Amino acid sequence: MKTIDELDVSGKRVLVRLDLNVPLNDGLITDDGKIRASLPTLKALLERNAAVIVCSHLGRPAGESDPRYSLAPISGSLSRLLGRPVTFATDTVGPAAKAAVDALQPGQVVLLENVRFNRGETSKDDAERGEFADHLAALADAYVGDGFGAVHRRHASVCDVAARLPHAAGYLIQGEVAALRQLTASIRRPYTVVLGGAKVADKLPMVEALLTVADHILIGGAMATTFIAATGHPVGTSLLEGDQAAALRYLARARASGVDLQLPADLVVARTPSADGPITVVAPDQIPPDQMAVDIGPETADAFSATLARAETIFWNGPMGISEIPAFAEGTLAVARAIAHCPGFTMVGGGDTAAAVRSLGFTESDFGHISTGGGASLEFLEGKRLPGLAALEADPVAV
Ligand code: ADP
Ligand code: MG
Repeated sequence: MKTIDELDVSGKRVLVRLDLNVPLNDGLITDDGKIRASLPTLKALLERNAAVIVCSHLGRPAGESDPRYSLAPISGSLSRLLGRPVTFATDTVGPAAKAAVDALQPGQVVLLENVRFNRGETSKDDAERGEFADHLAALADAYVGDGFGAVHRRHASVCDVAARLPHAAGYLIQGEVAALRQLTASIRRPYTVVLGGAKVADKLPMVEALLTVADHILIGGAMATTFIAATGHPVGTSLLEGDQAAALRYLARARASGVDLQLPADLVVARTPSADGPITVVAPDQIPPDQMAVDIGPETADAFSATLARAETIFWNGPMGISEIPAFAEGTLAVARAIAHCPGFTMVGGGDTAAAVRSLGFTESDFGHISTGGGASLEFLEGKRLPGLAALEADPVAV
């Protein structure tokens, strides 16, 4: 991948794809880690006299404008952290974006509205994605990819636009890739992977690849629910998604290949995902029909911590419970503590996982690397060719 230092940007309009998909609560940013991680690239481009056009996604809107997913609340924070004004365009490639880009001078920044307000962004149809990419590319002279959290997606602003403009990878992507390479080359063992979180359908297939490299796989969060359901136990009102037949296969394969795949020995359950009601600890086969798993239990936290204490290499993606609610953050806290104490190479990946460890008081220095991408880092570790990285590696083509 070409770096931005090799890209001609002075006096040019540079479209920068970032991952500004930060956690929001009532329109307030609860963790600005992804914005901070994007600053080095933006600052370097501005110092080199580029006119910077920032684009990003936020959440999963359905291909049309939806105020719940507007990037407007992000522009103020971006401006503060960058120390310069940021103009917000109320559309992505429409009249507002065009007017803002026309008025843009070198050294200035405009933030476009959520790319996913456009059907073409996430379309499976190459032509539809290409058409949206044409509009994006028309705004700029060059393209910089630095949204690491989205590089595993074949989306227009991540892939197709790179083919249409001279391009380079930003510093965030370069740093992420360098850190992840440490987990693909000569891994020091035992290598322990911790998986949790909520995007189970997306991430469950990655267990298969991890079974071939990891010594221990510890499963919590809503990921655990899928395995518990797969083994025939009712999970009440727990979040349940993903392929249970696949989960069963992974359990069998782990046994056959001697990989230690640990599921929770106990769970914290509650009637609602809020701190108001009573919470209890139950065995995984005893989830009451009207309750949901909201965290791993204390016995599980101890067992996971003991395994993590012996690890030489650790990768962790996905909170162990609904850690945004302090009462359900104990399991995530225990895992974070055990990883922070591990003297080996440790990596924490994922937007929500990174936000969780920071809100629990951990910092960059507690881990070897904190990655902004959950799905992206998992797919990288799986050995997959990530479409967003491949697009940055390839030369632009005349379209
Ligand atoms: P990341 O962004 O780090 O890749 P995910 O997006 O997959 O992680 O998952 C993060 C979310 O998972 C958090 O918002 C957390 O509340 C949720 N979560 C964790 N455990 C559970 C659970 N048992 N039930 C429902 N949600 C859960
Ligand atoms: Mg997430």
